[in-house]
Amino acid sequence: MIQHYPFQVFPLPYLYDSLEPYINMETMYFHHSKHLAAYVDNLNSLIGPYPQFHDWTLERLLLENQQLPEDIRTGVWNNAGGVYNHELYFAGMSPNATELQGKLKDSLLLDFGTWENFYNSFFQEALKLFGSGNLWLVADERGKLVILPLPNQNTPLPKGLSPVLVLDVWEHAYYLEYQNLRAEYIHSWFHIVNWTEAERRYQNALFDNVLRYGDCLRSQQQVH
Ligand code: MN
Repeated sequence: MIQHYPFQVFPLPYLYDSLEPYINMETMYFHHSKHLAAYVDNLNSLIGPYPQFHDWTLERLLLENQQLPEDIRTGVWNNAGGVYNHELYFAGMSPNATELQGKLKDSLLLDFGTWENFYNSFFQEALKLFGSGNLWLVADERGKLVILPLPNQNTPLPKGLSPVLVLDVWEHAYYLEYQNLRAEYIHSWFHIVNWTEAERRYQNALFDNVLRYGDCLRSQQQVH
């Protein structure tokens, strides 16, 4: 996501109704064209008066947040996070069936033992995340996969962790369709995960980490 001011609403890579019956059109319409758009508008309003930050990417606004003037620091943290997280969330779903495969599948089985262990762990963490937030599957600097709950619109970037998947469990992500039944929403989301995109992100994370840390990654390890 190479973007800078003025930020724009990321176009959905599918139609609002194409994730049905798992997420309905109304939910997708409000989530994308209202909630995400509000984060984009807020971020532009905050950065607008500061031309020195107009070429900063979303990632830089998050990673170097402490360098921003104090009066916009928290607002940029929340709204740049909101834009960044939603782009990952929306692009991490697909109306077309995709398959967990490749290095991501190998690492997932290495780190969680079985698909069922991963599924159950992710499901339970998503269910118990208190309040508003996102549940992440991230890769650490050695490529190890970790499930990470983060509140509000926090991102894993400042922790040096690379996003692979994110599940939005803010009520606005499911309340119109599922009301209080977050568990049903989580089950539904698993039907529309874009594993091809997740694998692409994971490969990029491994590649970036080879550049940063050298050739000492677990991608070299064998899965038995
Ligand atoms: Mn959301």
